[in-house]
Amino acid sequence: MIPTTEIENFIASFEERLAPVEKASSEAWWRLATTGTGEAQRELVRTGMEYNRLFADKGEYELVKGWYEGRWDLESSLLRRQVEVLYKTFADRQGDEETLKRIEELEAEANAIYSNHRGVVAGRETSENELREVLHSSDDSALRREAWEASKSVGRKVEGIVRELAHLRNRLARNMDYKDHYARSLDLQEIDSAELDRIMDNLGEATGEPFRKLKARLDVDLESKFGTDQVMPWHLSDPFFQSCKHDAAALPLPGSGGRAGGAPGAGDGGLVEDGGAATGLDLDRFFEIKDLEALTRKTYDNLGLEVRDVIARSDLYERAGKDQHAFCLRVGRSYPYDVRVLANVRHDSYWMDTLLHEFGHAVYDKNINPSLPYLLRTIAHINSTEAIALMMGGLADDPGWLSSVAGVPKDELEGTRERLLQISRADRLVFVRWALVMYHFEKSLYEDPDREDLNSLWWDLVERIQLVNRPPDRNEPDWAAKLHVALAPVYYHNYVLGHLTAAQLRRHLEAVVGGPFYESEIAGRYLQEAVFGPGARDDWRTTVLRATGEELNPAYFVETLQ
Ligand SMILES: [Zn+2]
Repeated sequence: MIPTTEIENFIASFEERLAPVEKASSEAWWRLATTGTGEAQRELVRTGMEYNRLFADKGEYELVKGWYEGRWDLESSLLRRQVEVLYKTFADRQGDEETLKRIEELEAEANAIYSNHRGVVAGRETSENELREVLHSSDDSALRREAWEASKSVGRKVEGIVRELAHLRNRLARNMDYKDHYARSLDLQEIDSAELDRIMDNLGEATGEPFRKLKARLDVDLESKFGTDQVMPWHLSDPFFQSCKHDAAALPLPGSGGRAGGAPGAGDGGLVEDGGAATGLDLDRFFEIKDLEALTRKTYDNLGLEVRDVIARSDLYERAGKDQHAFCLRVGRSYPYDVRVLANVRHDSYWMDTLLHEFGHAVYDKNINPSLPYLLRTIAHINSTEAIALMMGGLADDPGWLSSVAGVPKDELEGTRERLLQISRADRLVFVRWALVMYHFEKSLYEDPDREDLNSLWWDLVERIQLVNRPPDRNEPDWAAKLHVALAPVYYHNYVLGHLTAAQLRRHLEAVVGGPFYESEIAGRYLQEAVFGPGARDDWRTTVLRATGEELNPAYFVETLQ
């Protein structure tokens, strides 16, 4: 007999201990990200340790584990799910106090380094936004190279920390009989590693040929633009080549007689005069004089999803000492929810995408049914919330959204519709290839964090999968310059699963509402009821099934690559 009342009582009293610590830890996270001070860093470590201690009692862990193993005897599916979530949370924090503490310290240290580090270009400390600016617009190859190298310079500062973290994480995993931290993380995230392998392999195959063709076109264009016979990573507009919107947008139109020359599409021959300027498309142009915050509000208003309260608590603009990235954070789980977004908004396409993305996380967080039990008052899964965020962020280059919501005049969009679709397709291809690099690299990192050839392993993958040339004699820890490797380990596949889910969900939504989802309050209501509201009461697979009427089917995403 499974002791239902005992479980319920345990959960009730555990929640009381958990809630204040969880809230304090999120507050500390926010404070560190918005100030970057040593005090905030110490506070984050302190609350992190306090959080870990909640799960330190071995007797309690064994008790919860026993309930977890016998969970199928529970009549209530709501209670069963709570037991599952509780067990995974406990399991995620098992380990000796010393190792756990060291991990907290190293993570906080790495966090502060990423926040405070500024690469140096032309003798001056430069923000990530400024580096991105150089890679977007400079014609000066030497300056670009300097900016690209600066974008990697944080790698040396954190390399040792990342290796030590990988070690310690592996120690915890092996004490629980997992092969390594990678295997343990997937298991605790309820992701089947064989299935994930299959999905990744299939995506690798589906993107191989179209990506090769795309890269060849980009190379021809960049060779001519920079007068080089070898395109190097700094000729690309994204420091990791994880996006190619700018490069793809800059490609001359087929038949324009521009840089790419001999491009297919004879029918387009008359659109632009031969020998005319290479007429690429400047995506940033759409946002130069726009209020991105207002566009975000309007987008969510159209869906009937209120974000004014989130905006009011957010920190959206650049400032010294502040985290240079973007994220959404929910502080505590009491209703009305306290949801905040951090960003460093500029008037360009990148930040439009990012704002819509982060507020996608925010509307999910703030619309979770508050009458759910505490443990289920959260997202179903990281990949579920990424799906919403990616679907929303993708609107920034959607021709329909640009016209109806962003108010780009029809004549400005005239003739660019097809072009915009090509750009987002190219961007998805590029993203998948990049995600494959991260996936394979992290697996190898956790197999052996001590291996001496991590630097060259990284470049082997980049060359093979992204077809990006390795700079001659480059032997730098460029992998450590990617924040996720240190601070969001074993996370990247969730973006991939998020993309797959987003494609399937958008298609389903538009079938339901019979038009663009972003113009429909019904779509917003549907999302509230089918995705946000139920919170974590089901696992991610069931969430996909509930939201789209079928299990995750990668074919919908692959279709968007054609
Ligand atoms: Zn996200």
